[in-house]
Amino acid sequence: MALGALLVALAVIAAVRVPWSGPPAPRADQLAAMRDLPADVVARGKAFHAALRPGSYGALLLGALIALVLGFTPLGARIVEAVGRPFGGSWIAEAVLGGFVLVLLGELVTLPLAAWRETILRQYGLSTQTWGSWLVDLLKGYGVGAVIGAIALLGFFGIARLAPQWWWAWVAAGAAGLVVVLSFVFPVLIEPIFNKFEPMPEGPLRQNLLALAERDGVPVRDVLVADASRRTTALNAYVSGLGPTRRIVVYDTLLREAPAAEVEAVVAHELGHAKERDVVTGTLIGAVGVAAAVCAVYLIGSWTGLLRRAGVEAISEPRAVALLLALATLAGIVSAPVQSFISRRIEARADAHALALTDDPAAVELMERRLATTNLSDVDPPRLEYLMFASHPSVVERIAAARAYARGER
Ligand SMILES: [Zn+2]
Repeated sequence: MALGALLVALAVIAAVRVPWSGPPAPRADQLAAMRDLPADVVARGKAFHAALRPGSYGALLLGALIALVLGFTPLGARIVEAVGRPFGGSWIAEAVLGGFVLVLLGELVTLPLAAWRETILRQYGLSTQTWGSWLVDLLKGYGVGAVIGAIALLGFFGIARLAPQWWWAWVAAGAAGLVVVLSFVFPVLIEPIFNKFEPMPEGPLRQNLLALAERDGVPVRDVLVADASRRTTALNAYVSGLGPTRRIVVYDTLLREAPAAEVEAVVAHELGHAKERDVVTGTLIGAVGVAAAVCAVYLIGSWTGLLRRAGVEAISEPRAVALLLALATLAGIVSAPVQSFISRRIEARADAHALALTDDPAAVELMERRLATTNLSDVDPPRLEYLMFASHPSVVERIAAARAYARGER
């Protein structure tokens, strides 16, 4: 009943806040864009992605396999029990340390693939990291994951102990609240762990960007510059945070490499996200989605065959943490194409916003070319990969949209 209501809510949010019909990006324009892109740029992007593919899919498969084996056999429950034993089988030790050990197992097995990926990034000149800084990043990521994971695990199993009947309702509300809080504090608590942010230096470009925001009716106090160059040569920008923590961030690499008109095109895209409140949309979808997932977990918890298979008595006991991780892994894989689809629609809308705001499709196309060249994009990725994982329209789609705009097709 509650699950049904949440799924309806999810559908309503998606229907209202996600643009279902995108701006035109005719395939003929895409093919023309493909022909106009320098052949070596296209080939290098394709080669780079071909080199990454075995490691990416390998890590995905291996990670999923481990999660499924641990969760859908009694192995995971036994590990949790063993981890909790030195602590007298305390539920906190089982839930938190058990959860950490299970996640760490998956991380350790896929670690060589992550290192392989980094060697490819370096081979292609995209990474500027040393192994030392790479490792520090990895450990910081584990640290952040551990803190958030501990909050989630303590919350879930703690509430399940306090309210054996109605835990699912409290956990659903708590999980949704956690998503909102994380989205809010992300730019001020988590991003600074990985990067330094400084206000964009005074000058004509800064003035132009703030004027652009003003003209767009999007109040922007500041544009921040991230020291992305400590990690990558890639160019990017993004919007994060909610309300008072909302900010537009550009990579220092973008300011260094791109001429002013192209930086403006990028910022105009980000202003589109800010104006349409896409971070709010993402947060709402995440919050309602996670609440629905908790209700689904509760219902799955009455499936005794599955519980027996996982070697647990109830889905709300700490020994079931492996089963929960397995279910989360499955949910992630199944929902990936839907999440990617929603993301692509939202990104296409931000692209259309950039075209309308700058009214400079030529600069937008040059910017897309520069991004494709520097970031080694696969400008026209394989169909299945695109449907499963692409968070943005392809480069040829984005250039095609700019050309359609230039012809007056909106
Ligand atoms: Zn975007």
